[in-house]
Amino acid sequence: MTDGHLDGNALAGPLSTVFTAEVTTAVAACAGCGRSGPLAAARVYGAPMGYVARCPGCDQVLLRYAEAPAGTTLDMRGIATLRLTTAD
Ligand SMILES: [Zn+2]
Repeated sequence: MTDGHLDGNALAGPLSTVFTAEVTTAVAACAGCGRSGPLAAARVYGAPMGYVARCPGCDQVLLRYAEAPAGTTLDMRGIATLRLTTAD
């Protein structure tokens, strides 16, 4: 039984409005524990009103994404670095 979270692939659609690169394959380094891994491996909560992605290593919030009539907010303070990979 899971705790009701999705995986990071749930962020593909929402984040496509912010990034033009494929973000779920991007490698995020957690600002809390330093763990690096594809954003698709994050634990994602909160759909459909917004998303909170948590580190699978230490549970720190990696990013928050929210849509509102006034605009889209993306808080990525839990990610130390985000490496967008390029296709070969
Ligand atoms: Zn972490």
